[in-house]
Amino acid sequence: MKGKIVIDKEFCKGCQFCIAFCPKKAVQISAKRNTKGYAYAEYDKTKKCSGCATCALVCPEATIEVYRE
Ligand code: SF4
Ligand code: SF4
Repeated sequence: MKGKIVIDKEFCKGCQFCIAFCPKKAVQISAKRNTKGYAYAEYDKTKKCSGCATCALVCPEATIEVYRE
């Protein structure tokens, strides 16, 4: 199964739960900050997201959408 995620960076608080739990290491922290000042999580397109949705489940801000291909 392949997938991809879309993170709404403005709702991200930079807690990094999604990064800690992604089995494919497909989420990384951005060098940039959102308008609230948080260094936000972003999808690493070079990794192979499986669409498992673990990141979306652990995100306390519910700001990750998962798409399966
Ligand atoms: S859906 Fe799964 S593999 Fe894809 S970024 Fe989220 S935790 Fe990682
Ligand atoms: S789990 Fe959610 S709030 Fe935390 S860093 Fe990831 S996207 Fe941002």
